[in-house]
Amino acid sequence: ATMPTLLSGIANGARQGILFKNGAQLELIGQVRAIAFDKTGTLTLGQPEVYKVIAADSYAEPDVLEVAAALESSSEHPLGDAIVQAAQGLQWTAATDVQAFPGKGIVGTYHQQTVTVGNANFVSQTTQLSQTLIETAQVLEQDGKTVVWVAQGQQVMGLIAVADRMRPQVAETIARLRALGIEQIVMLTGDNERTAQSMAQSLGLDQVYANLLPEDKLHVIKRLQQQYQHVAMIGDGINDAPALAQASVGIAMGIAGSDVALETADIVLMSDRLEKLEQAITLSRRSQRVVK
Ligand code: ADP
Ligand code: MG
Repeated sequence: ATMPTLLSGIANGARQGILFKNGAQLELIGQVRAIAFDKTGTLTLGQPEVYKVIAADSYAEPDVLEVAAALESSSEHPLGDAIVQAAQGLQWTAATDVQAFPGKGIVGTYHQQTVTVGNANFVSQTTQLSQTLIETAQVLEQDGKTVVWVAQGQQVMGLIAVADRMRPQVAETIARLRALGIEQIVMLTGDNERTAQSMAQSLGLDQVYANLLPEDKLHVIKRLQQQYQHVAMIGDGINDAPALAQASVGIAMGIAGSDVALETADIVLMSDRLEKLEQAITLSRRSQRVVK
């Protein structure tokens, strides 16, 4: 498109709460044939709530929450917010030496002990998960809950089941994107397979990719690009940044989005409304048509 058309397209986008960082992406988004959605914070509201706390033998539920909150108070992850919220009535101080592992969990020192909070794979690297808790976790995951494991030293203290809700307009948005001719629509998540499949039910997605680390998300985007050439990725997290950078068009959620996601993306949805995606595509195609 010519310069004035692009600028008016960008201005139109801004009026609709779609921030295009440059003209090239305004042109590209209309040509995208595949779209990858991150799950947590993108397809979901990213306002998870603690649904249940389960303590291992010889621990109490408040202790599990306390340790988790001590770590998560320095985390940017939506799961962390949920845990800190739930621990508000308890006494705790922030853990020290905190290190976050995107897509896995978080580690730190609390009361002179190493404490670990994260998914089963991550926590099982330093501890032995009990069969009883593994089974409890599976039941919760089949019900769409995300299970966060909490360990102190080499002991599993328990688990925290967190519930997040789909954004209300997801299924409708996916149907509309299909109507616009998008051929492949997928979900990418670092969450486990059971939770991901349970949440994806009835959304009409072509594929659900679970257990992905940030670099795995990038590889899925690359593979999609081999098949569909122009691929959009939409996400909110630090863990989405490599995939957002790789995608032909990277799109960040403006409100839920982490700083890194906002910086990396080509387009920012100011209101976090997924239907803006459809508007962006329509806007792009319209501004192409003007010059033809
Ligand atoms: P998504 O790709 O759906 O946005 P993430 O990649 O951010 O999810 O996280 C994947 C999984 O890693 C989470 O479901 C959780 O089990 C674990 N995890 C990541 N960060 C944290 C954290 N700060 N606290 C607890 N668990 C975490
Ligand atoms: Mg996310």
